[in-house]
Amino acid sequence: METNYQYRERTPEPLPERELRLGEGRISGISSITLGILSVLAVLAYLYPSYLTTTELRQVYDGEQLQILLKYGIYFSILLGCLTFILNRGLYRHLGSFGIGFSLIALALGGYRVPVGSVEPRELSLGVDWLILAFLGSVVIFLTLEKLLPKYREQVIMRPEWDVDLFYFCFNHLAISAILIFSNYHASHFHWAISQDVQATIQSIPIWLQVALIILCADFVLYWEHRAYHEIKLLWPVHAVHHSVEHLDWLAGSRGHFVQVFSERAMVMIPLYLLGADEAALNAYVVFAALQAVLIHCNTRLPFGPLKYVFVTPQFHHWHHSSEKPAIDTNYSAHTVIFDRLFGTYHFPGEHWPAEYGTTKRLPRSVVGQTLYPVTVHLGRKDSGLPKQ
Ligand SMILES: [Zn+2]
Repeated sequence: METNYQYRERTPEPLPERELRLGEGRISGISSITLGILSVLAVLAYLYPSYLTTTELRQVYDGEQLQILLKYGIYFSILLGCLTFILNRGLYRHLGSFGIGFSLIALALGGYRVPVGSVEPRELSLGVDWLILAFLGSVVIFLTLEKLLPKYREQVIMRPEWDVDLFYFCFNHLAISAILIFSNYHASHFHWAISQDVQATIQSIPIWLQVALIILCADFVLYWEHRAYHEIKLLWPVHAVHHSVEHLDWLAGSRGHFVQVFSERAMVMIPLYLLGADEAALNAYVVFAALQAVLIHCNTRLPFGPLKYVFVTPQFHHWHHSSEKPAIDTNYSAHTVIFDRLFGTYHFPGEHWPAEYGTTKRLPRSVVGQTLYPVTVHLGRKDSGLPKQ
C-alpha cells in the first residue's frame, strides 16, 4: 500500500433527470415494460424449450411452478401499465402502453397456459430461461441491496452506459450453453491429469470441506488467469473491456469481451474437472461464485466485518476497478484475498474507497467498438489503455 497517496472521496455526477421517483409513473412504466418483455421471452421459452432453455437449468426448476410466476408477471405488467395512465397525468403512459402491449403479445402466444411437456435436449441452445431467472434474481437480491445499503446513494439505477452493460448481461446468459460446451471441451484435454485416488479422497471428505477446496483451487487458477490478462501486453486489450466500466453496480460485472467470458469459464473448469468433487459441492460452489461475482461489483457498503480479510468483497474488488495509481494491477483474486496476499498484489487501504473507476485511457463506448478493440488496438489505431504507469 502506498502511504503517501492522497485518497479522495468519490462524488458520482448528479443525474436528476435519470432519477426514478415514486408517484411519477416512470417506475411503473419501466417495470411494466420489463415484465412485459420477460413475459414474452418466457412464453417463447415454453413454446420452444429445446431451442430456448438450458439443459442443466431445466433439471433445477419446475416449469409448471414457474408458470405461476409468469401468470403474475403478465398481470403485474398490465396493472403497472395501467397505473402509468393515472400517475403524473399520464406523462409516461407511452411506457405503460408498451408494457401492456408486450403482455398482450405474451397472452396471445399462449401465456401461462402453454403445456409443459418433455423436452428434446439439444446440445446448443439459447439460455432464455437462464436470462430471465438471473435477471429477476439479480433485481430482487442485488438491486434491493443497493437501494437499502448503497455506497453511493447519488448513483442512479440508469447510470451512464447501463444499456451497454445490459447487452453484455443478456449475451452472457443467452450464451450459457455455448460457454459450457466450450468449457467442458477445454477441460477434457486435461483427462490425463485425473487421479482416481485423489478424486476418491476428495469425495470422502465432508461437503463443506470439498466446497472450500474447490474455492481455493478455482481462486488460484482465476488469480493467475486474471493476472495474465493484466500483465501480458497482448491480452490486456481483451480484459480492458471489463475495466472500461466507470460506474460499478450489479450490472457492471457483466461487461466483458466474449473472449474473456469464454476463456475464464474454460480455465476455471479445469480444477473443477480434476478435483471430481461431489455434485452437491460443485453446485454449492457454482451458486457461491455466481452470487459473489455480482456482489463484488455492487454499489453497496454492506459491512462484512472480519470476513473482508478472507473473502473478496465489494470494497476490495472496487479497488481492482480503480484507475488510481496505487490500485493499478492489484486485487486479482475472485473468491478469497489469499493469493493477492501471497503474491504481493493486495491493495486494501483501510476504510478508503476509490475515487475513480475505469481505464487510464478510455476505450470505445459502444459494444461493437469494445468487441473490436483488441483488434483495432493492435492495428495501431487506438492506444491500448494499458493501466500500468
Ligand atoms: Zn481485471
